Amino acid sequence: GRRTTVPAVVIGSGYGAATTALRLGSAGVPTLMLEMGRLWDTAGADGSIFCDMLRPDHRSSWFRTRTEAPLASILWLDLVNREVKPYAGVLDRMHFDEMDVYVGRGVGGGSLVNGGMAVTPERDDFARILPGVDPEPMYRRYYPLANRMLGANSPDPAWFEDTDCYAYARLSRRHAERAGFGTTFVPNVYDFDYMRREAAGEVPKSALASEVIYGNDHGKRSLDKSYIPAALGTGNVTLQTLTRVTSFRQEADGTYVLTTERIDELGEVRGTAEIACEHLFLGAGSLGSTELLLRARDTGALPDLPAGLGEKWGPNGNVMLGRANHPWDTTGLVQSGMPALGIDNRHDPDNPVFAEIAPVPAGIETWASLYLAITRNPERGRIEYDAATDSARLRWREAQGQPSIDAAKAVFDRINQANGTAYRHDLFGDTRAFENRFTYHPLGGCVLGDVTDAYGRVRGYRNLYVTDGSLIPGSTGVNPFVTITALAERNAERVLAEDF
Ligand code: FAD
Repeated sequence: GRRTTVPAVVIGSGYGAATTALRLGSAGVPTLMLEMGRLWDTAGADGSIFCDMLRPDHRSSWFRTRTEAPLASILWLDLVNREVKPYAGVLDRMHFDEMDVYVGRGVGGGSLVNGGMAVTPERDDFARILPGVDPEPMYRRYYPLANRMLGANSPDPAWFEDTDCYAYARLSRRHAERAGFGTTFVPNVYDFDYMRREAAGEVPKSALASEVIYGNDHGKRSLDKSYIPAALGTGNVTLQTLTRVTSFRQEADGTYVLTTERIDELGEVRGTAEIACEHLFLGAGSLGSTELLLRARDTGALPDLPAGLGEKWGPNGNVMLGRANHPWDTTGLVQSGMPALGIDNRHDPDNPVFAEIAPVPAGIETWASLYLAITRNPERGRIEYDAATDSARLRWREAQGQPSIDAAKAVFDRINQANGTAYRHDLFGDTRAFENRFTYHPLGGCVLGDVTDAYGRVRGYRNLYVTDGSLIPGSTGVNPFVTITALAERNAERVLAEDF
C-alpha cells in the first residue's frame, strides 16, 4: 500500500474523537480523522437516511444477516428482529463470552444510535468516579462547554405534561412516586422544539416515528451535526470514512505508522494503506482503543505500554427491565423514542440507582413500562488480547452483573408493591425479568491516571493519547457521553498547550 504523512491522526469519530479533532483543527493542527463506518448523510431509495426500529433493513446493523435488537421479544414473540443483508449499518452488537456491547458505527459513533440523554453527574459522584481530576474546572468550564456544544436541551414542562408521546413517562413517574421515589427531567440532545412540531404534525416525524437505536433522520443533534462539522469547518480536519485502523507501530524517530484497511459499504476490502503521524489520538471507544493498544503491546510493536492496560472495564452497571402495567394504565400508540425522565435514587446509600424511563416505541399498546437502570456495580472486568484470533476478549462473568440486578430489584420491587404490579418476563427471549447480558455504556480499559497520565497521555510513549470512554473506570453512575466529551475538552486543552 501507499504511505501518507500527516501531523495528527484521530482514530474514530465518537465523542472523544470528535471533540479532539475540533480542538486540534481550531489550533491549526492538520488532522486526519479515520472512521470505520460510513457517513450518514444521504437518503436511500425509500427517502430516509436511517431505518426505524420496527422495520429494520440493511442500514440497521454492522455486517449481520439478522438484526439483534436489545428487546428480544414481546410476549415471547420475536416481533422486532428481521433478516437483513450484510452492510456497513449503524448499530453493532459486539459479542463476547458473557457480555455483549452495543456501539455505533459511522461518522458520529455512538451519537448516531443512542438515546441522546445528556446527563451531568453530580459533583460528589464525579469526584468518586475520577478522583485524579479536579472537579472545579470541570463544573465551571468543561461540562457547560460540552453541554452547549452538544446542544443539550429540555422539553417545555407544560408541553411535556400534555403530550401523548410522553404518556409512558408520566405513568412511570406516577408509579415511582407512589413508592416514594423521585424523578428528574433528563436533558437530551434531541431538539425538543422539533419534537413538539412533530407532535403537532408540522414536520416529518423521527422521535415520534419509532426512530431510535438505528439512527434518526431528523431532530437529533448527533455529532455529525455538532462537533464534526465544526471540526471540518476549521479547514484543518479531514475525514476518511470506511477506513479501519488495524494496527500501529512506532518508528525510531517517534513517528507512529498506522496500518489501515479500506472497505466498501458491502464489506469488500478495497485496499490497505499506511498513514504516518507525529501525534496519535485514540478515540475508537472503550473496546476499540483498548484493543488497538493491547495488540500493539502484545505483538511487540509498542512493548513498553503499561501493565494496567485492559483493566477496570465495566458496563456502567446497566440492567434493563420491564414492568407490566394494569390494563387501565395505557401508554398510547405513539411513544417518543427519546427518553426524558429518570427515576433518581442516586442518594440511597444501599441501592443507588438512576433509572432511565425508556420507551417501547412498538406502535402498539404493550402494557409494558421499560427501564434502563444504571447502578453502581463495583465489579470490574478486563479486556485481553487473544493472539490466536488477533482480537480483543472481554473477561466479564455474568455473575459479576448480579450486584446490578440486586440494586435494581430493590428499587423496582418497591415500585411493584406500591402499585400492585409485576415484572414482565416476556421481553428478553427467555423468562428472565432482568437483562444485563449486554451494555450500552462500555467504559474503561485505558483508565486515566493508570494507563495514561492525568490528561490522557499514554504512559511510556510520547505523543500518544487516549480520548474516549476507555479513560473512565467502568462506571459513571449516569449516562456517560457528556462526561466523555467534557473530559476530552479538558484533556485536549492541556495537550495542545503543552505538547504542540
Ligand atoms: P464511540 O462513540 O463508541 O465512538 C467510537 C468510534 O470509533 C465509532 O464510530 C467506531 O466505529 C470507531 N472505531 C472503532 N474502532 C475503530 C478502528 N479500529 N478504526 C477506525 N474507527 C474505529 N450515552 C449517554 O450518555 N446517553 C444516552 O442516552 C445513551 N444511549 C445509548 C443508547 C445506545 C443504543 C447505545 C449503543 C449507547 C448509548 N449511550 C448513551 C452510550 C454512548 O453512546 C457512548 O458512551 C459513547 O458513544 C462512547 O463514546 P466514545 O467516544 O467512547 O466512543
